[in-house]
Amino acid sequence: MNEPSKRTIGLTGGIGTGKTTVSHYLATVCRIKVLDADTYAREAVQKNSPILQIIKERYGAEICLNNGELDRKKLGNIIFNNSQEKKWLESQIHPYVRQRFQADMENAQEQILVLDIPLLFESKLTYLVTEIWVVYCSYEEQLQRIMKRNHLTEKEAIARIKSQLPMDEKVKKADVILDNSSTLEALYQQIEQKLNKE
Ligand code: ATP
Repeated sequence: MNEPSKRTIGLTGGIGTGKTTVSHYLATVCRIKVLDADTYAREAVQKNSPILQIIKERYGAEICLNNGELDRKKLGNIIFNNSQEKKWLESQIHPYVRQRFQADMENAQEQILVLDIPLLFESKLTYLVTEIWVVYCSYEEQLQRIMKRNHLTEKEAIARIKSQLPMDEKVKKADVILDNSSTLEALYQQIEQKLNKE
């Protein structure tokens, strides 16, 4: 695919730093079209999908819940403690996600697009965007927020944080840094300012 021809913001950050909060604000208040990698990734492993079948062949039928849906927590515990397995899983899902982005981007009529991609760097998708926004917050805030939201122990939360590229590496690669270490109001103000910079 060629360079994107319109303003295409790649929204990323660490786990639990506030990407969803930012993309929700962009979509609902700023009325900007947001394409979401997590939605595509969930679609990739939906009930009866070919990729879910491959996952079952690798980890056994117990990787699914009784209703046939993927047991995401069980899979999370496998891959966040084993980088080889994480790599394998990503190699199954990423091509599907990339293809869905390209199709939806080609069909979009909007002048500005936001691509919400938690693993923008790790999955080498930066070529899809014209600018990179990284949502940042302090390590302590990040740990507390994901423990609370996902009901994780500190050990589980740390394993998830460690499985990603370190936060400071992401910040270094950013065109725009949104600091979400304080209030939501402060975050929204930064979004408005960065969005209207041109
Ligand atoms: P993930 O990578 O896990 O998808 P994320 O980067 O999308 O996470 P959010 O889901 O937006 O992060 O935020 C993580 C949690 O922290 C949520 O429960 C959210 O409500 C809360 N949160 C986000 N920003 C703030 C803030 N400024 N103050 C307090 N809580 C916040």
